[in-house]
Amino acid sequence: MKRPQVVESVSDLRSVVREWRRQGLSVAMVPTMGALHDGHVSLMRIALERADRCVVSIFVNPTQFAPTEDLDKYPRQLAADLDRLAEAGVQLAFTPTAAEMYPEGFDAKVVISGPSAGLETDFRPTFFEGVATVVAKLLLQVLPDCAIFGEKDYQQLCVVKKLCCDLDIPVEIIGAPTVRDTEGLAMSSRNAYLSPAELTVARQLNKILRQAAQALRLGANAQETLDKARRQVLEAGFGSVDYVEARASDTLAPWRRDRDGRILVAARLGATRLIDNVEVVRS
Ligand code: AMP
Repeated sequence: MKRPQVVESVSDLRSVVREWRRQGLSVAMVPTMGALHDGHVSLMRIALERADRCVVSIFVNPTQFAPTEDLDKYPRQLAADLDRLAEAGVQLAFTPTAAEMYPEGFDAKVVISGPSAGLETDFRPTFFEGVATVVAKLLLQVLPDCAIFGEKDYQQLCVVKKLCCDLDIPVEIIGAPTVRDTEGLAMSSRNAYLSPAELTVARQLNKILRQAAQALRLGANAQETLDKARRQVLEAGFGSVDYVEARASDTLAPWRRDRDGRILVAARLGATRLIDNVEVVRS
């Protein structure tokens, strides 16, 4: 198993990519915050099906965490992450420091309206500014042919697509299906925070969403279906529900029955906040 090359500076990153380009190789990128699991690895596999070389960035981006959130607690495990990259056949890991990404005097902020309105933004108001800014930087640093993002973070995927479209960033953004455990729980680095009892509760989330999606597909009233799903999430043992909403899958505008949709949810379980989403097939 070949270990990936690891670079920490933008200039080293660019010189590796420049050499690949000189050799006529195509490049894919997978941005991550580390604590890698099978969901991340699935993105790397898609990347390497599409391109000759894959860059994975591992950077716990401070600007997307609010002061009250889990930045300090967020799991960091670089050695294990590099093993996952080696298994997946990834050639390059980019592991910048915060000072490399945000040097003294850094002043830029990328704001994408449209798909970032509502949902996560109602509860994490500065989250997508942080995400859009760091993703814009990473894409411009690497300039890959394509970048793979998980549908697990569905609103983020829509924001990143809009970022590239509106700012003419010439990178194809590819959405990848959510990888789940055998019970349907979406894999997440934050699942590591869950106790065994909480894990049992967390595993209900996707089942409730899938039932709601099926009900919508069969013509049930949308508001009643979403209200019922909210109640079921609370009854399952979640402490609170931030949102359960149906949106159009492309623009995230309010869902209409003749459009493909998504039901998106965020709910809190103890100290952990979980998100998930499922497709609503058009009826
Ligand atoms: P994160 O490290 O959590 O920022 O995630 C990095 C990338 O992996 C994002 O594009 C996520 O959407 C994606 N991702 C996280 N969990 C999963 C999952 N269970 N299945 C597929 N992709 C995922």
